Amino acid sequence: MSRVWNFSAGPAALPQAVLERAQREMLDWNGSGASVMEQSHRGKRFIEMAARTEEDLRSLLGIPADYAVLFLQGGATQQFAQIPMNLAGEGDSADYLVSGHWSAKAVGEASTYVRVNVAASSAADDYLKLPERSSWQLDPHAAYVHYTPNETIHGVEFHDIPDVGAVPLVADMSSNILSEPLDVSRFGLIYAGAQKNIGPSGLVVMIIRRDLLQRPGRPMARIFRYAEHAANDSMLNTPNTWGWYVAGLTFQWLHEQGGLAAMAERNRAKAALLYQAIDGSGGYYSNPIELGSRSRMNVRFSLYDGALDAAFVAESEAAGLIALKGHKALGGMRASLYNAVPLEAVQALTAFMQDFAQRHG
Ligand code: PMP
Repeated sequence: MSRVWNFSAGPAALPQAVLERAQREMLDWNGSGASVMEQSHRGKRFIEMAARTEEDLRSLLGIPADYAVLFLQGGATQQFAQIPMNLAGEGDSADYLVSGHWSAKAVGEASTYVRVNVAASSAADDYLKLPERSSWQLDPHAAYVHYTPNETIHGVEFHDIPDVGAVPLVADMSSNILSEPLDVSRFGLIYAGAQKNIGPSGLVVMIIRRDLLQRPGRPMARIFRYAEHAANDSMLNTPNTWGWYVAGLTFQWLHEQGGLAAMAERNRAKAALLYQAIDGSGGYYSNPIELGSRSRMNVRFSLYDGALDAAFVAESEAAGLIALKGHKALGGMRASLYNAVPLEAVQALTAFMQDFAQRHG
């Protein structure tokens, strides 16, 4: 059996070393004679693993002590609703920067719980670039500012952290967390669905400034309240034990790779290689995103003739390059270049693209 080069947007490729270790430990985890999925989250082994996993994430990202780390469920989508429930009180408003599909979806889910002020949007530009900074209408009294640093579908990415003054900044980092070093102290809350740069789906990693846990928010059941999850070490109910464990393996792997500075360098090189192949193709391939807004993680490209799309997808799959078909809303192609995708995969892709262009020129 041979592994393919996997460019899936998510659930996405995981490091092979992580999968192999999970495989080795499947039947007898940590000397327990059972898999990690088959034992209590209240047991000593699991609690030690959970603590180490949090420590490894804290050291990777340099998470300050006044931030709690939570391992939650429900996907990023559930957080779209839970964030306003927790951070906004009755009558409060929150600012949203809309730069693509996911930030627009976050607005939709939040609207039930908070008065949403779309402080900026690039919808009128078809999300081909980030909203112009000069157009942002931030409200200094907002409960928080929400944005999506990397738009997985539209392929646009913020390359610096927006300055929003004293209002807590909330970021959906589902598709770019751990791809580069991060100044966590600039944020009030960071959250990410795990299934791109962390591990399996069904797990959400959240980093939240502890003072925000004191906000009363809206009336809600305990299970929705972040403060309750924090007070119970993310074990208010049975957590996603498997997801938590695989996340821990990924964090250890990231340390072994040299940490986030090393990942940032690799990710930069991977994206540069693919964008060069697109831009240097004489128009055979193209990427529509404004240069300064291009994503390092999700690279969109179109063929000059859409009639070739089906052949491109079929032939790339036959060549062991999978999941290049673009999101159905946009068509074309998309290559996701998360941490677990090595430079070698991008080299294989760009070689295939050149060859395809020659054969179908
Ligand atoms: N936000 C972003 C940036 C995403 O890429 C995704 C999923 N692709 C989501 C939110 C939704 O995540 P989930 O399916 O885990 O709810």
